[in-house]
Amino acid sequence: MKAEKIGAEIQRITHCQVLWDKYSRDFYSVDASSYLVKPLVVVFPRNENEIIKILRFASKKNIPVTPRGAGTGLVGSALGSGIILDLKNFDKIRIHPNYVQADSGVLKGILDKKLEEGDKFFGPDPSVGPYCTIGGMIATNASGSHSLKYGSVIDNLIGVRIITSSGKAINLPSKSQFGNKILKMINRSIQEKFPHVSKNSCGYRLDKITKKTDLQKIIAGSEGTLGIIISAKIKILPLPKKKILFILSYRNLKCAVIDSAKIVKLAPSALELIDKNIIEHIKFDFPAKTGCLLFVEFDSDIEKSRANLGKIITDAKIIKTLTKKDEVKKWWGIRNSALGFSLRSITPNQSLPTLIEDATVSVEKLVLLVDIIKKISKKYKLYIVTYGHAGNGNLHIRPIIRYKNKKLMKKIAIEFFSKVIEIGGSITGEHGDGLARSEFVKLQYGSDVYSVFKKIKQEFDPKNILNPDKIITTKSSMTENLKI
Ligand SMILES: Cc1cc2nc3c(=O)[nH]c(=O)nc-3n(C[C@H](O)[C@H](O)[C@H](O)COP(=O)(O)OP(=O)(O)OC[C@H]3O[C@@H](n4cnc5c(N)ncnc54)[C@H](O)[C@@H]3O)c2cc1C
Repeated sequence: MKAEKIGAEIQRITHCQVLWDKYSRDFYSVDASSYLVKPLVVVFPRNENEIIKILRFASKKNIPVTPRGAGTGLVGSALGSGIILDLKNFDKIRIHPNYVQADSGVLKGILDKKLEEGDKFFGPDPSVGPYCTIGGMIATNASGSHSLKYGSVIDNLIGVRIITSSGKAINLPSKSQFGNKILKMINRSIQEKFPHVSKNSCGYRLDKITKKTDLQKIIAGSEGTLGIIISAKIKILPLPKKKILFILSYRNLKCAVIDSAKIVKLAPSALELIDKNIIEHIKFDFPAKTGCLLFVEFDSDIEKSRANLGKIITDAKIIKTLTKKDEVKKWWGIRNSALGFSLRSITPNQSLPTLIEDATVSVEKLVLLVDIIKKISKKYKLYIVTYGHAGNGNLHIRPIIRYKNKKLMKKIAIEFFSKVIEIGGSITGEHGDGLARSEFVKLQYGSDVYSVFKKIKQEFDPKNILNPDKIITTKSSMTENLKI
């Protein structure tokens, strides 16, 4: 069906805003990833009923539907060739003492401000800051610097309301027959095949579902493939009264990750890392030979933590001890700009593709992950930028590659993912599968788990119209539709 016909029909059945002009289609053909996929139409539903009508129409005509939040995702999961559902009109927030009921289109920054008025906060804090939406965060199982103490979205998701592809509204957790059917598909032997890591956004997180009251967790990290998220009930916590942030200088990445495994035992609220490629762009007089920085924050037992940290670090210099709110904020701003800083390391004919940028291992195995990076860098003569959530064993690894060198990208990805899986890690700790990694989900989990994923997808979306080829796919999309 042509864009005009689809657009006109959706307008007729819903009366909501529908766009299919060149500018709008171009705008929605990209997100923060390395990909470009042009949709046919972009729709801005205003209520559940309109979503139901759109999904029923799309099901009947076999048109793919891709939900979209703020488009800050890094793996192309919000890009699709059919209908894009922009959820920005779903923007209500209702704050309760220990949880918040938020619509999927609510921007994280707006939620943070409202929660702050009552001295509360929502734990997961992606470095993109205020710009992502609650729907996008749930659908990627997002996390951030403070997930070390406060968990990823999946650990904070109490309930969720979705619309499935047949236009059925479902609240999860649920005692319904549907809920029972999903629960029956999950068993111990399947769960044992999941990596033992603190963060994982690969596939459907069946390892987190042990009882009926966990069923909402299936939507965390589902990337719009199981249903359109309408709203969610999420856990909130009292804002910590005090914080102390230490900036530690290390000679190199290896020394920093060896210490990370020790520092984590002191229960910091955050433990983050940036390498020398990023440090070079920060205006600060670092000690000579600084090859890596760790950001270590505590938000409880501050004096005890300060003393303990001094005792256990080796080969490091504490170059900053920050307690003032604005100073702590400033240095977190520096850490959160790591991706922006790293982009300054490339020339116009180079790129920093989002392919192997999000692996997670247990923190004790970070040193093995660093070895893998080193070997790949040496073998392919590549400059590699590294930063990320060391405390969670989650590193963002960005090789600088010549513009569109697809063959090399694929070679590196296969080699890297196989090694990460071999050491018990996940190929993605927070950004998800999307166009970059869906073809590797089966490699991550093996055929038994993957066949359960397929059955689950079939239950929620029998006609395969919800963000097709993300998570479950037979296609290889990693090096297709690259915009860089
Ligand atoms: C500079 C930078 C730093 C980042 N740092 C982090 C980080 O520290 N941690 C982290 O986890 N991520 C990080 N990200 C990635 C990104 O910000 C997160 O994945 C974020 O949660 C995406 O939210 P979004 O609203 O932009 O979603 P989008 O990009 O719009 O969509 C992401 C996925 O969610 C699905 N989706 C969106 N809304 C819905 C809905 N209502 N129903 C069903 N599915 C839906 C989409 O289909 C897509 O699959 C970073 C990105 C950038 C650019």
